[in-house]
Amino acid sequence: MSGAQAHVLVNADVRTLNDGGDRAEAIAWKNGRIVAVGTRAEVELAAGPQAECVDLGGATVLPGFIDAHHHPGIVALYGGVVRLVPPVVTDIRSLQEALAARAAVTEPGAWVVATNWDEHLLAEGRAPTRDELDDAVPDHPLFAMHYTCHRAATNSRGLEAAGIGKDTPEPAGGAILRGKGGLPTGILVERAFCGVETLARRSLIARDPEGFLRRLAAHYRTMAEAGITRVVDATVPPDVMTLYRESARRGDVLVPTMMLPVSDASYLQEPWDIIGGPLPQDGDGELLTTGPIKLVFDGVPGCAMCLSWWQAFGATLRSFGLAVARGTFEPIRTALSLGPQLGSDLKLRTGIRMYHTEEAARIVRAASDRGFAVATHAIGNEAVEIAVAAYAEVPEASDLRGLRRLEHACFLDLALIRKIADVGAAVVSQPELVRLPTLAHAASIPGLRYMPHRWLLDAKVKLVGSSDHPVAGLDPLEGVRAAVDRRTVRGHAHEPDQAIDLDEALLMYTRTAAEVCGVLDRCGTLEAGKRADLVVLDVPLDGQTLASAKVASTIIGGAWIAPAAEA
Ligand SMILES: [Zn+2]
Repeated sequence: MSGAQAHVLVNADVRTLNDGGDRAEAIAWKNGRIVAVGTRAEVELAAGPQAECVDLGGATVLPGFIDAHHHPGIVALYGGVVRLVPPVVTDIRSLQEALAARAAVTEPGAWVVATNWDEHLLAEGRAPTRDELDDAVPDHPLFAMHYTCHRAATNSRGLEAAGIGKDTPEPAGGAILRGKGGLPTGILVERAFCGVETLARRSLIARDPEGFLRRLAAHYRTMAEAGITRVVDATVPPDVMTLYRESARRGDVLVPTMMLPVSDASYLQEPWDIIGGPLPQDGDGELLTTGPIKLVFDGVPGCAMCLSWWQAFGATLRSFGLAVARGTFEPIRTALSLGPQLGSDLKLRTGIRMYHTEEAARIVRAASDRGFAVATHAIGNEAVEIAVAAYAEVPEASDLRGLRRLEHACFLDLALIRKIADVGAAVVSQPELVRLPTLAHAASIPGLRYMPHRWLLDAKVKLVGSSDHPVAGLDPLEGVRAAVDRRTVRGHAHEPDQAIDLDEALLMYTRTAAEVCGVLDRCGTLEAGKRADLVVLDVPLDGQTLASAKVASTIIGGAWIAPAAEA
């Protein structure tokens, strides 16, 4: 359906999202490239008399969406494992039954792998104990990933396989939770679970590489149908990269993909093996490319925060006010669970930090010397501060594969935003995280904002949209809605002063994303000469129709993916 045939869309609201914000009524493409954007007469002339023409009845055409932080590899890796979620899993007993059922059909010695447990969704309101996990899975090592992907539960065989025992020291940037006599409870937090995660990943891949490739191909179709025409996988260890290359060899990479490499020893570890390893060969440099190295600077949900006493005091007071107003004490529990520590500078620090500033600068410099940009996961303001300080110390890499990035950058104040602007780092945000249930009761911290999109744009920081799927849903239109309305699951707008308008939100998923990924010369706007990566919506898009607008069809490199517009 692509090839030499020219295609024309007429009677459309074509939003080019170029510098001038130009709009047009028609667009044409041929051989995978846009040949004309303009009036119907101009475009039909450029496309020639043989062109296939579709009348859109006024519906909107946008540049294809770019999801700059997504995890297709995690979807493919864990797509076949047990999901410990309701309605099947509602308490410890049903969790044990689900694990035991999987163990019964898992070959001896292989890892039983599960995901998505959440103690708040279990009737007991706590994590399972090691004894409970041993009862359910006595003969296999077990890896059960928490829904945050930043902690895990394992059984005695899992601990043994990873060499974690009573005398294992606490890893920097992680915690081995312990019970009586210092015995590990089986709950491993942040860097403490790298060992079990890596072993479980290798076991899954070795057992069923075809399953991985099948699920990856299916996920590419799901993304394309949602209007995603380019994606960044934010966590790609070497073995998953090998599977991506195989997927490309088979012609299954439907959506051009940029991979952010992480260490073979898990995404939370320092990626020295990547920095010191062979430089990636990117083939044709279009379908499958290697991007910045991914670094993780703080925990989830224990992100690295630094608050003055008045900010902490103000946050607690506001939590109390919210609790009274809403008749719930959940906000107070949330505030107190931060577990703050008072530093010698009289500032309160909370959460888990993986790198000190010097370590951070050392690794950013080494990556830069090797020609890699970096994409740093930093949620809390302290983690962002460390990343920005490291970026400031290291001149930018000569061979940039995309710009330097800050992933998430959730809690920021105006001074920190100025520093982000000064070092020229892009912020890759996930607007839909405003719908996380925990945020429905969250109080604002004085001076800080959560995902301060308005402040970032006003400071001229390059602000990019993304999903972090499977952490949140993958629909870019839902991300656009969340950036515009900032509504929580309880229906109120969270920090409404940070809302941005529709056009600004669209740019996050198109032009700015292309710029930050280093591909603005070939996509991100609708202009003659660029790749024909387009999204056709089912309505003319405006503030009113945004709520219900859907993707009617997607065109990637000139090829129709969901040819609804032809029907
Ligand atoms: Zn992520």
